[in-house]
Amino acid sequence: MKGSAGTAEKMGEKGIKMDYRKVSDCLGVDQVGHLTISGADAVLLAQEYGTPLYVLSEDKVRDTCRRYKSSFVSDYDGFGTPIYASKAFCCKEILRVVTEEGLDVEVVSGGEIATALAAGVDPKKLHFQGNNKSETELILALDRGVGDIVVDNITELHRLDRLAAERGIVPKISLRIKPGIDAHTHAFIRTGQIDSKFGFALETGEAMEAAREAVASTHLELVGLHCHIGSQVFDHEPFVLAAKVMLGLFAQIRSELGKTMTHLNLGGGFGVRYKEDDAALPYESYMDDVSKAVHQTCRELGLEIPKIFIEPGRSVVAEAGVTLYTVGDIKTIPGVRTYVAIDGGMFENPRYALYQSDYTCLIANRADQPADFVATVAGKCCESGDLIQEHTPMQKPEVGDVLAVLSTGAYNYSMASNYNRNLRPACVMVKNGRPRVIIRRETYEDLLRLDV
Ligand SMILES: *Cc1c(COP(=O)(O)O)cnc(C)c1O
Repeated sequence: MKGSAGTAEKMGEKGIKMDYRKVSDCLGVDQVGHLTISGADAVLLAQEYGTPLYVLSEDKVRDTCRRYKSSFVSDYDGFGTPIYASKAFCCKEILRVVTEEGLDVEVVSGGEIATALAAGVDPKKLHFQGNNKSETELILALDRGVGDIVVDNITELHRLDRLAAERGIVPKISLRIKPGIDAHTHAFIRTGQIDSKFGFALETGEAMEAAREAVASTHLELVGLHCHIGSQVFDHEPFVLAAKVMLGLFAQIRSELGKTMTHLNLGGGFGVRYKEDDAALPYESYMDDVSKAVHQTCRELGLEIPKIFIEPGRSVVAEAGVTLYTVGDIKTIPGVRTYVAIDGGMFENPRYALYQSDYTCLIANRADQPADFVATVAGKCCESGDLIQEHTPMQKPEVGDVLAVLSTGAYNYSMASNYNRNLRPACVMVKNGRPRVIIRRETYEDLLRLDV
């Protein structure tokens, strides 16, 4: 619902009555007209824990994990596993929750490995991705027994081969493949096509060459292939196509190298809702379609059905999250726009500044009222581009209101910084109406801890 810049921002007399449950089913409005998250009153949360505050519904995260898990049971007889791509929101408690629900964890750095280990995640359930893993990170992964190292490029393959030989171990590896599929999404978050910094290209023969070297190595055990075609993808077709292309490579590696692999990882990227009119992603029907394609292609190529992995990140946590702010100064520029300043900004949610992401905003203490005002939500950083959303409908804001931004569970905390020496917010997890702090608010002491 973006209006045009430069015009007076007025909605119709009545405004729009929002149905926040269409953005996430963990939301509601209570008898006093306040937004609720998993049954907890957002205004009381803001009062008790302060703002800005990340709030995450544990019930919603668990429910999504269960839906992914059960679709594997129905489509693959449980043969395969969803993996939580932890970069979406990586902290100990979330990793405990998702692994309790039976998901594996994808990590892309030594820091994410350390977090997973500190959370008590079994290293065998870790899948280590990344296009430039350092030697230190690879050594950490090898020494701690990370279950699957996804090799990105030939230099890394050689490095890993040497490190494994030095240690006298044979780690399980997969190869990251660029299947050459355009997932019709924003260019910044598209990673499957040939011009990508990630993985081995199919067309150039690079993928086969890497497979040949991996099979020839006595220090590496090639167990499978991986691809990830993009993020915030809503169509099933690119995933189905990717599955077929990848199985074609399975068949080629078997016939040319005599190697039968057992793991096919189709990556993540399932879309989530940021606005009321975004479509809900039917994971179940996605899994059905991909499963049909996998079964059919395997039959045609005479392949055993490999273990299937998918790597959802955003879709596990995004819709479970809400960020709460206190409305500060409100600046109306006649004929131009109204800026509503909040006590957060790009330091705790850089996504609008990075790629103009959509968000739904509302005044949490008047959530039952129609959204009859249009405003631009501005952060407190010293950048004109420090905005959370522009020309967006909401209830008419007043100084001191609690402003909520929906679907902030993914790529918010994990992308947060201390820009302008701002403190990173706390995160509260809500289970059945009961909140608990899972990440405490930073203090000035935390901020100065590393300064010499
Ligand atoms: C980012 C990423 C994911 C998760 O993507 P989402 O869009 O958050 O689901 C999965 N796999 C890989 C390799 C990634 O880079």
